[in-house]
Amino acid sequence: MPGGTGTIRDLLATGEKSFSFEFFPPKDEAGEKILWQSIRELEPLRPTFVSVTYGAGGTTRDRTVAITGRIARETTLTPMAHLTCVGHTQTEIKSILGSLADAGVRNVLALRGDPPGGPGTEWLPTEGGVNYAADLVRLIRSVAEMSVGVAAFPEGHRDAASLESDIAVLRGKQDAGAEFAVTEMFFRASDYFGMIDRARGAGVEMPIIPGIMPITNLNSIKRMAELSGREVPANIVERIARFEGDPAAVRAEGIAVATELCDELLAGGAPGLHFYTLNRSKATREIYTGLATTV
Ligand SMILES: Cc1cc2nc3c(=O)[nH]c(=O)nc-3n(C[C@H](O)[C@H](O)[C@H](O)COP(=O)(O)OP(=O)(O)OC[C@H]3O[C@@H](n4cnc5c(N)ncnc54)[C@H](O)[C@@H]3O)c2cc1C
Repeated sequence: MPGGTGTIRDLLATGEKSFSFEFFPPKDEAGEKILWQSIRELEPLRPTFVSVTYGAGGTTRDRTVAITGRIARETTLTPMAHLTCVGHTQTEIKSILGSLADAGVRNVLALRGDPPGGPGTEWLPTEGGVNYAADLVRLIRSVAEMSVGVAAFPEGHRDAASLESDIAVLRGKQDAGAEFAVTEMFFRASDYFGMIDRARGAGVEMPIIPGIMPITNLNSIKRMAELSGREVPANIVERIARFEGDPAAVRAEGIAVATELCDELLAGGAPGLHFYTLNRSKATREIYTGLATTV
């Protein structure tokens, strides 16, 4: 069966809740096998779209085009490719967009990317490239017939001067042609709804889909804090740490925490949910089937 050929812009315009999964390009064949097993296991849930991240550098970058293309060709799913400004000239970006279009991919998540030294280090622009996600959105819209999404940050981007300037950046991405946004992971529904209020007040009208990362073990809590530069809220750490020494119970509580957050978000009017799957399908399937709201 051919892949979904719709644009995310049109899929979101139906007003139905959107339900999506994010994968990353694996480094080796064993990882590739796990990825495709997960994709096949999640396919029957008929998600609105699935996305594949773009590597910080190195060889996995070509894999984003290859995997999204294969999803378009060999599954019923609608793929979205992430793309960043890191280390690319505008000519290279245009060439990647051409490869995506040839592979049947019609949706791109336009990101600046983290500085090559890692999150929190100084951003170094590439000569002949683009500097911010808004510039990348503008470039994509000027050369490709693609639906373009961007990143949003419920607690503000780690380098933003204030929550207000962070929302001004989001507004700038919308003005550049972005049609939807997906958020960084977060744990308090109030952070998401606070950002929505600020965004709507600043004239950001595009749908903003909350990003959900299920906690399935105690180490992942630490990893998440490192990635986002934010602490996981103490009450959530306590809820999960209570079960230390019992991995199955830790996992069950992590799934319960994420399911409660998802229900609160949907009940409060979120346009859908975007799951960071880490290329595994089980936790996402459990949360999906446990939701009080039918997506
Ligand atoms: C849903 C999601 C998916 C992601 N996927 C990937 C991925 O696949 N690969 C990857 O490498 N990274 C990914 N990231 C991480 C992302 O690249 C980083 O968070 C990056 O630091 C910010 O990207 P951005 O697109 O928000 O950048 P921008 O919107 O460009 O913002 C970057 C920083 O610059 C500031 N800024 C923006 N415009 C201006 C301006 N005109 N003047 C001054 N300051 C400005 C912003 O406040 C912010 O601090 C993802 C993040 C999210 C939330």
